[in-house]
Amino acid sequence: MSKLLHEREDFPLSLLEAEASDLHEMLGGPTLFHLRGRREPALFVSALMHGNETSGWDAVRRVLRAHVSADGFDLPRSLSLFIGNTEAAAHGVRHLPEQLDFNRVWPGSESSGRPEHELMREVMDIMAGREIFASIDIHNNTGLNPHYACVNVLEHQSLHLASLFGRTVVYFVRPRGVASMAMAALGPSVTLECGKVGQEHGVNHAEEYLQACLQLFEIPSHPVPSHDIDLYHTVAIVRVPDEHAFAFGDEHASIRFPHDLDSMNFRELPAGSLIADCTGLSEQPLDVRDEQDMHVAERFFMLDEGRLLTRVPVMPSMLTCNPEVIRQDCLCYLMERYNDHLVDAG
Ligand SMILES: [Zn+2]
Repeated sequence: MSKLLHEREDFPLSLLEAEASDLHEMLGGPTLFHLRGRREPALFVSALMHGNETSGWDAVRRVLRAHVSADGFDLPRSLSLFIGNTEAAAHGVRHLPEQLDFNRVWPGSESSGRPEHELMREVMDIMAGREIFASIDIHNNTGLNPHYACVNVLEHQSLHLASLFGRTVVYFVRPRGVASMAMAALGPSVTLECGKVGQEHGVNHAEEYLQACLQLFEIPSHPVPSHDIDLYHTVAIVRVPDEHAFAFGDEHASIRFPHDLDSMNFRELPAGSLIADCTGLSEQPLDVRDEQDMHVAERFFMLDEGRLLTRVPVMPSMLTCNPEVIRQDCLCYLMERYNDHLVDAG
């Protein structure tokens, strides 16, 4: 066993009272629990891949609390629960400065050779040996976004699992190394985006969803009807290069975003929409990469008399007004509607 992963088949009831920030002290690090239920194989659920995204843990413990029995838990299906970055959770951050992002280091990642990669490889090897019913990785985000599920393969069962969470579904293949992409090799797999941390609605939604998934006898393998799903495809990732200072509203910086930037999430923006005021810059400043990691900024953005505008119609997601998230992760993703591709799903 690697130094990083703890694996256990007991789940002390005292954990149900623990906040995400308490888990590191109680567990000692990333922990994979196996809890036996009435059906096999287990539902695999991961939470706290990002230490400050606590809705997943809060939803999981509510679900478990509802199934407490005389000798542990009476679950309709076995549950393998992976609690990820407990140390970052103790500090209330996505990941510690010296750590890699736990949701970029799963097998298939573009980086390698660090203990974080070994940890996720170990989790996957264990789950490959046990088999899974489905995999659910639970997250929060910072901007104004609807709740939505993400899939990384266009496959009917994963799309069914995603549409059970809501009708908004995002298909993406970058960034690499995310849990749902790796776990898709073992079974139907989704990432849940449950809105902002601290919103009761996000925890409730994840709790109801997990309850429903534990009760499911099987996941349909026929196509999801197009009228049941709004499927979007992430075509580009937008970042602000480190050398550019940015700010919101009227503050001074070479890139000035509107203070309500995140109100554009999941809105179809026409060509010519204003993204930022860049008075003083001679070239559009954003780093935009497509699914092949090619530079495609010129395809999506243009600078017109110091105003950064969209060049083509796009729909952003995950736009955030949190500078730290922009620096640690990205400014946003750009999406296109993808329902036409439901028929191609396998
Ligand atoms: Zn996250």
